[in-house]
Amino acid sequence: MTSQVDVAVIGGGPIGMSIAWRCAQRGLRTALHDPAPGSGASSVAAGMLSPVAEAYFGEVELTRLLVDSAERWPAFAAELTAVTGHEIGYRTDGTLVVALTGDDLREAQRLWTYQQGLDLPISVLRPTRLRDREPALSPRVRGGAFMPDDHQVDPRRLVAALRTALDRAGVSMVPHQVTDLSTVDARQVVVAAGRGSAALTGLPVRPVKGQILRLRAGGAGAVGFRHVIRGYADSRHVYLVPRADGEVVVGATIEERGDTTVTAGAVLELLRAAADLVPETVEYELVQAQASARPGTPDNAPLLGWHQPAGGQPVLVATGHHRHGIVLAPATADLIADLAAGATADPVLAPFSPQRFAVPVGRPAGEDR
Ligand SMILES: Cc1cc2nc3c(=O)[nH]c(=O)nc-3n(C[C@H](O)[C@H](O)[C@H](O)COP(=O)(O)OP(=O)(O)OC[C@H]3O[C@@H](n4cnc5c(N)ncnc54)[C@H](O)[C@@H]3O)c2cc1C
Repeated sequence: MTSQVDVAVIGGGPIGMSIAWRCAQRGLRTALHDPAPGSGASSVAAGMLSPVAEAYFGEVELTRLLVDSAERWPAFAAELTAVTGHEIGYRTDGTLVVALTGDDLREAQRLWTYQQGLDLPISVLRPTRLRDREPALSPRVRGGAFMPDDHQVDPRRLVAALRTALDRAGVSMVPHQVTDLSTVDARQVVVAAGRGSAALTGLPVRPVKGQILRLRAGGAGAVGFRHVIRGYADSRHVYLVPRADGEVVVGATIEERGDTTVTAGAVLELLRAAADLVPETVEYELVQAQASARPGTPDNAPLLGWHQPAGGQPVLVATGHHRHGIVLAPATADLIADLAAGATADPVLAPFSPQRFAVPVGRPAGEDR
């Protein structure tokens, strides 16, 4: 008997929901399986859309994808808001990257020079110009750079809007944890289950813990700064993301472990670094401290495309988005929905093929000779 479902998406985080939305818009009968949609890494994420500030050495192809996806964000946000009526906290004030000490500035300048070499939009600013832009910055800040194309969105609002968009598009929600792909009744399966993708596909998706804080400055308009501020503060890396409703997100640790314990040491370090860069944060209310695990891969780039699990049918995979799952949602959704609709793979996907980690048949995992 042929299935009534064209595409089953496993995982209802921002990646799976965006894919399901785009699949339904292409006329595919779509179901989304998740016992707790929105409960993964996105429930904790800051929501920075940072193709430029996160253009790191040795990641040129990933940077290209980040830039591509960030360029899709204005239309994606506008369409989502128009379809659902949800305001998703998409802000385009830009990002300031700042350095506290001389050593911090030298470290930052190396990266800015690399990023300028890629023709990414950055203006390096002297301290006085920085504080003209953002008076809340500490007078101790030694220098910085403005990245006008690095924006932000509120991931929790994004996920709520996507749920409404899925309802409106007729996607059926299946509140069920998938443990075996062969039990899923659909003509095609897309695995977009974040960290849960490893168990379903055998692909190397590892948890990378991040601890994050939510502060509150009072009511709307009470936050004394409007840019996302990312900083180097005495060799500690921190970011502050101001929301229009008075919330400020401060993050985040990057730890090679998978638990979700919030530690006193991490809270201390994040608050100290935040206050070093923006002193007024010490007056804010500390509302929430949380941890979750990003879905990482061995090369920190996502897994996008066809994959053949051992002994199973080929499936589409969209996972391993690590620190970039919010910014990469629009491009991932378009590219994977095109594949689900029968298109040939866009060349932009080639560097991200899950096949780069496939274990050759007949050779056990871990044997690399
Ligand atoms: C502290 C922190 C800060 C971050 N900040 C940013 C940021 O500023 N910008 C950015 O772009 N990214 C950021 N990220 C990364 C971002 O949150 C992730 O890349 C993104 O959430 C990945 O989306 P996803 O949909 O693949 O996975 P997730 O959001 O983890 O969602 C996975 C979903 O799959 C479901 N699931 C799992 N297993 C199964 C199964 N077997 N069956 C059915 N459903 C299943 C889960 O219930 C969950 O709903 C941050 C992450 C952390 C932890």
